[in-house]
Amino acid sequence: MKFRTPLIAIALFLGLATVIWLRSGPCDGRCVVVLDPGHGGDESGASDHGVVERDSNLDMALRVEAILKHDGIGVVLTRRTAARAGGADLPTDAATFMDLQTRVAKARSAHANVVVSIHSNSWTDPSTRGLDVWYDSARDQAAANHLLASSLLAEVQSALIGAGHAVPDNGVRDDTTLVDAAGHTSPLFVLGATREVSVDELAQRGIDPKTIGLRAGQGYQTASVDAPAALIELLYISNEADAALLKDDGARQAMAEGIARGIERYVTASHGRTTAARTSATPQ
Ligand SMILES: [Zn+2]
Repeated sequence: MKFRTPLIAIALFLGLATVIWLRSGPCDGRCVVVLDPGHGGDESGASDHGVVERDSNLDMALRVEAILKHDGIGVVLTRRTAARAGGADLPTDAATFMDLQTRVAKARSAHANVVVSIHSNSWTDPSTRGLDVWYDSARDQAAANHLLASSLLAEVQSALIGAGHAVPDNGVRDDTTLVDAAGHTSPLFVLGATREVSVDELAQRGIDPKTIGLRAGQGYQTASVDAPAALIELLYISNEADAALLKDDGARQAMAEGIARGIERYVTASHGRTTAARTSATPQ
């Protein structure tokens, strides 16, 4: 094959080299990315301007899956339908709680190298818009979590700009800064370290401990994903302009490309740390 310009040949070489590197480098020949489309079932997440987060998140995960598989990367989704990932047979609040625990369990059993949870945001101020990416600074993989979150933010922002849609960059955010209504630190379950969810917190979450198999007075010990993880909030459904982008096929595909490139950028930049960073956190 004769290339018209050296640039095309160089671009093809770099692309092939990246695929080879992803297959043989930092993941030791085996890369598994777990994509976690947020919400499901009757817990549909944010909903406004004709966008339902549950469905938008799933569509985005399927788009990212197709891109990563094309690049030779293994992908596992925590849900592939509109239904919850887990806990669907429980009362609503308990179902929401156990749904999140199920997502962590699925990531663990998939032996993920990378976990990316996909959401879109909503806020009371309809002028708020843009991209936020969350990571957890309290886990062993804090630096890797931050690198993954930064890579996702940079690549999704870049992909949107490339598609003609500049949106605000709200930055990388640490979920250990989140506090619940009672003032307790409350990191996101899909990102955070293992922790005991107390009887009081279960009650605040509207959960009768018996419905999730606990004895009276017994707290719930969560599990933690054992791979670097980040949660991306793709724009604000509560903002009309952002919602319009979430309904635009070209903008959606650009964001999917950005997520895939962000994951690949992280894997390449981590130089083996994805595998090395996996810990032996005790399954619960
Ligand atoms: Zn969400």
